[in-house]
Amino acid sequence: MRATIIHGERDIRVEDVPDPVLSTGVDAIVRVVAACVCGSDLWPYRGVTEVAAPRRIGHEFVGVVEEVGDAVERVRPGDFVIAPFYQCDNTCLNCRNGMTVHCLHGGWWGRETEGLGFADAGQGERVRVPMADGTLAVVPGGIPDDALIPGLLTLSDVMGTGHHAAVSAGVTEGSTVAVVGDGAVGLCAIIAAKRLGASRIVAMSRHEPRQALAREFGATDVVPERGDEGIARLKEMFDGIGPDIVLECVGTKESMDQALRSARPGGQVGFVGVPNGGPELPVRQMFNTNVGVRGGVAPVRGYIDELLPEVLDGRIQPGRVFDLELPLEEAAQAYRAMDERTAIKVMLRP
Ligand SMILES: [Zn+2]
Repeated sequence: MRATIIHGERDIRVEDVPDPVLSTGVDAIVRVVAACVCGSDLWPYRGVTEVAAPRRIGHEFVGVVEEVGDAVERVRPGDFVIAPFYQCDNTCLNCRNGMTVHCLHGGWWGRETEGLGFADAGQGERVRVPMADGTLAVVPGGIPDDALIPGLLTLSDVMGTGHHAAVSAGVTEGSTVAVVGDGAVGLCAIIAAKRLGASRIVAMSRHEPRQALAREFGATDVVPERGDEGIARLKEMFDGIGPDIVLECVGTKESMDQALRSARPGGQVGFVGVPNGGPELPVRQMFNTNVGVRGGVAPVRGYIDELLPEVLDGRIQPGRVFDLELPLEEAAQAYRAMDERTAIKVMLRP
């Protein structure tokens, strides 16, 4: 089969790899219907994190189950499934605490895990899914309409991650919220804040098409300024003190600094940007402002049940973050478009 391999900095190739085969009794083979490139895939692509050896890449996909192991009980061949960006059994203590991303037996796509074997990465034609009953969310009603596929695909990662930022920060009825980051996660965080009842949502964005989408998703205001100017604008908009909540969806030193300094005294920062840009928490500053920080890697598997019905009936349309669709064979072009920010998020179709 064909699958995407990262060979090094700015070197993405689609190559022949072995077809996956069932091997543990609790796994499944999924034919990928759609996959996509994540903002976090850009870290190795840009050389920010090292690629020691060529490896498979991609951790967001939806598809159709082709085969299941003898001990798989819940997932059946023919099911349309959403895979979260990690594997989990959905039964261990961490999973029962809602922290499926910290599953005691979990693993990652494109990696070898002891006891689970090698899990194919998402940007390919097929994936062997370890712990299929725990990992995969089955979409009710069989194969969905093609128009729903982008929205369902966001439940693999970006919609659940944006939701995690909002939930971690405690967005509730009447909250005032600013969102730092206008990538797919930041845009999904706007959807999440709106559905949780935020009364005012400020998108921090200087890119016109992203500003427009932010407004369609529920942003009431857009602030293009960054740094000190952006913070001053936010304070001005909220009685001179700042919004209740800031959702940090980038992961750089600058974005975390902006988030921490924007929230009102006693406010809360929800953070889900993968911290690869060197952010550290300034405890003295947090002491002086009573601003709290909560968030981390999102346990998206557990959010699918809550968000899926709203994607299926169109109440939320996170799939609109995909503004470019390419065949899998053009994965290198997909990475370029994401890297150069000519696309918000690129869907790949095998
Ligand atoms: Zn678990």
